Amino acid sequence: MAQLELLKINVAGEWRLGGGEEYESLYPATGEPIARLRAASLADVDEAIAGAHRAFLTSGWAQKLPHERASVLYRVAQLIRENAERLAQQQRLDNGKPISETRALVASAAGTFQFFAAACETLEETITPSRGPFVTMSVHEPMGVVAAITPWNSPIASEAQKLAPALAAGNAVVVKPAEVTPLMALELARLCEEAGVPRGIVSVLPGKGSVIGDAITQHPLVKRVSFTGGTTTGKHIAHIAADKMMPVSLELGGKSPTMVLEDADLDHAVNGVLYGIFSSSGESCIAGSRLFVARSIYDEFLTRLTERAAALRVGDPADERTQMGPLITARHREGIERYVALGVSEGGRIRTGGVRPHGQALESGYFYTPTILEGLDNRARTAQEEIFGPVLVAMPFDTEADLIAQANDSIYALAAGVWSRDFKRAWRLGRAVQAGTVWINTYKQFSISTPFGGWRDSGLGREKGREGIFQYMEQKSLYWGTNEHPLPWAN
Ligand code: NAD
Repeated sequence: MAQLELLKINVAGEWRLGGGEEYESLYPATGEPIARLRAASLADVDEAIAGAHRAFLTSGWAQKLPHERASVLYRVAQLIRENAERLAQQQRLDNGKPISETRALVASAAGTFQFFAAACETLEETITPSRGPFVTMSVHEPMGVVAAITPWNSPIASEAQKLAPALAAGNAVVVKPAEVTPLMALELARLCEEAGVPRGIVSVLPGKGSVIGDAITQHPLVKRVSFTGGTTTGKHIAHIAADKMMPVSLELGGKSPTMVLEDADLDHAVNGVLYGIFSSSGESCIAGSRLFVARSIYDEFLTRLTERAAALRVGDPADERTQMGPLITARHREGIERYVALGVSEGGRIRTGGVRPHGQALESGYFYTPTILEGLDNRARTAQEEIFGPVLVAMPFDTEADLIAQANDSIYALAAGVWSRDFKRAWRLGRAVQAGTVWINTYKQFSISTPFGGWRDSGLGREKGREGIFQYMEQKSLYWGTNEHPLPWAN
């Protein structure tokens, strides 16, 4: 096979080879290299941030009127759409998600740029009620250089979710994609450049989180970090942020409960539970990984769910019919296998899955079968720790009070699902469950216009929604004196 050309990274607008170690990005379905690049070095980090700071001060991006910045962001959305199929195929290769999913992620990235362009040109500042001889206003200013640090599971969508509002707010942005999935961030930087975002306003620095991500977070010119990733990393970033008095948003892990009540529409609930845990091979922060089913329907529900899970189409991500692709790396799959073994040692029984799938075509990729464990207590480690793979822990419940207590018994509080035909019960549970997002009679649906984020160890702050732009701005109050006479005190 011909040697892959080394990819360039973007350091303050300059496309060049990174100064760090060379590495390959592998296609998780086959283990073959699909890209070769050199990571950013610490010198690249310094240069990118200094360049971003310069571009923020001198490029005119921050001074553009909102509708002018918006028109550039609309163009980014359009360019993403024009390149949609190429981007979706690349993302499939970069992280192994089925093509049907990567197409949806690309479409959502375009929608995100469009939404924040619209929000940018229509956001209003407020005149607050006056309490003296002055007119008072609350306005927002861009922060300067902000950083976006993203995980590998939905690259283009999570990068757009940070880049679009940060740019709409007038900032310069340094993006640090996950080491194993660098391609989409680099593509977005090219499209931003083509759309007219000034040089230096976007940099992309692939590399190890503990080195490059850490250096970006520590840098004194970085005024905000928007982070999506694991809770341990998020807490580390929060400590650095505390020392710098820097605002952060942290979108972290989850162990989300899905609750199926005895009056649920079971066809809908089975589909929703399957989609909630097994789409994206369970590599999703909001995966519905703890299932609580009313005891009276538990056996029937689990029988139906198990049959359907066992029939899910696991395989080639390029095939439009594939429902579950491989896991991201061989190492990640080993971690999942250890969790399933732990579940069994904790007294769990494997209803389905728990093995690698057979078949030559799947041998070299990092595939794993959809797995359902039962017989575990909600306090078991397998039911408490984030597995981030296609592993569902199913448990029966007896009363609503018991259900709520168990659903909320977790360090995480990112999302939850309620399946019931009784809107009063669904309302009660939807309000009582502690989570950043609750889906009622649906699951894992998203809207860029609705705020998203977690409670407790699932994170801090919110992304998305019109107000998402303000996350990337500092708030300022203006007092306009209207006194006819000098202030009396000095007289
Ligand atoms: P991770 O925390 O290992 O890495 C996330 C990003 O942080 C990567 O770019 C990584 O290089 C970087 N990083 C690692 N150490 C760093 C450090 N010391 N300083 C700065 N940056 C550092 O997470 P992951 O394995 O890539 O992703 C999986 C995790 O992400 C799961 O826990 C999942 O739940 C979470 N996630 C959360 C959301 C959400 O919106 N809540 C969405 C997707 C994924």
